[in-house]
Amino acid sequence: MSENIDVVVIGGGYAGVMAANRLTQRNDLTVTLINPRPTFVDRIRLHQLIGGTADALVDYRKILADRVHLVVDTATLIDAPARTVTLGSGATVRYDHLVYAVGSGSATPRVPGAAEFAHPLAALEEAKRLRPVLDATPTTAPVTVVGAGPTGIETAAELAEQGRAVTLVCGGELGPSLHPRGRRSVAKRLTALGVRVLDGPGTKVTAVTRDTVALADGRELPSDVTIWTAGFGVPDLAARSGLRTDTLGRLLTDETLTSVDDPRIVAAGDSAAPSDLPFRMSCQAAVQLGPQAAETVLSRITGEQPAAVEVGFVATCISLGRRGGVFQVMSKDDLAKKYYVGGRAGAKIKELICRGIPWQLSYEARKPGAHTWWSKDAKRRPLVRAKLDQERPVTEPAA
Ligand SMILES: Cc1cc2nc3c(=O)[nH]c(=O)nc-3n(C[C@H](O)[C@H](O)[C@H](O)COP(=O)(O)OP(=O)(O)OC[C@H]3O[C@@H](n4cnc5c(N)ncnc54)[C@H](O)[C@@H]3O)c2cc1C
Repeated sequence: MSENIDVVVIGGGYAGVMAANRLTQRNDLTVTLINPRPTFVDRIRLHQLIGGTADALVDYRKILADRVHLVVDTATLIDAPARTVTLGSGATVRYDHLVYAVGSGSATPRVPGAAEFAHPLAALEEAKRLRPVLDATPTTAPVTVVGAGPTGIETAAELAEQGRAVTLVCGGELGPSLHPRGRRSVAKRLTALGVRVLDGPGTKVTAVTRDTVALADGRELPSDVTIWTAGFGVPDLAARSGLRTDTLGRLLTDETLTSVDDPRIVAAGDSAAPSDLPFRMSCQAAVQLGPQAAETVLSRITGEQPAAVEVGFVATCISLGRRGGVFQVMSKDDLAKKYYVGGRAGAKIKELICRGIPWQLSYEARKPGAHTWWSKDAKRRPLVRAKLDQERPVTEPAA
């Protein structure tokens, strides 16, 4: 009889849930998922939580395989040589293999006053803190959303649709990852919703106070509520545990998602940096990386060579309130193409995708390993090779 093998997954987001579910393919594995909350946070709906159109929560019982043991706690340290994880409660969990999937959160803003007066939105608790602030603010009061990536655009649109006076401060270009055609569609919808879009280099925020936002071009905007969506950061658990990370703090791995420091640790989702060439922080990448991290663990257990990661992007999908949206088609290597679907059709596609994510997680819970192919980005391999060549020490030819 084979011995039981303990696999611990840290982080119950999109990547961690997909990984934990996939691991249940083997009956001789005990799969433990550590997450600080007893409920799954559907982060891609957090802007809806503050707009009051969704609660962004999903019961783990709907998306997690019965065999996954959920521990509601926070991992505070990974002791790789001892193969243990210390939890906030003081308990210690032992593992044979570990999946690191702690995701991302708000980046700490460096702009004076921003950390003090602006509200971040990348985590459930932040969105929950912001909601009553907005509820207590008159609808006519000026609200400023800083950051013109998908999260900022979606937040500005959601609040404008509620009748709020929203200014979106881009700090550069609106939706920089979009194709000009997709961007025009976004801009048109934002204007129709009454959002004042400030873009261009002069719109970098230089300071935030309780009721103003100052821009590089000298303008000072009145702002009763300022929402900060400019960039994601990652938890420092890997770095704190002495594991090598990239400059942002994502766990550095090889192309099989295995930590460069320890073959028993693999990473997935926003907190992974395979070959120091991380994928866009996204739910889209996380649901592909989670099961592949699990496959790497399963290969290690059977003594096979794990496969290299395959992640292909399809689109950037942005909701613009409940009645508008843009489905921006992307190349597999995540560059915007000229094709997009806008308007109500764009909104419908976005909503279908949002509903499809919990379904995808629950499908993996019911049929672990049934999905065996990944969208392939043919351009990644040469990129990785070039990076490795660059890093390889140049040896002098023998005299
Ligand atoms: C408003 C908003 C809208 C978005 N819209 C989209 C979108 O339309 N499309 C898209 O692709 N992406 C979108 N994203 C980005 C997307 O949500 C993230 O990229 C995605 O959640 C990453 O998944 P993950 O599993 O890596 O991490 P997460 O979903 O962040 O999950 C990580 C989990 O790990 C837990 N954790 C952290 N530290 C510890 C610890 N020490 N111990 C135990 N557990 C820990 C966290 O609490 C969390 O539950 C959006 C994000 C936001 C904020």
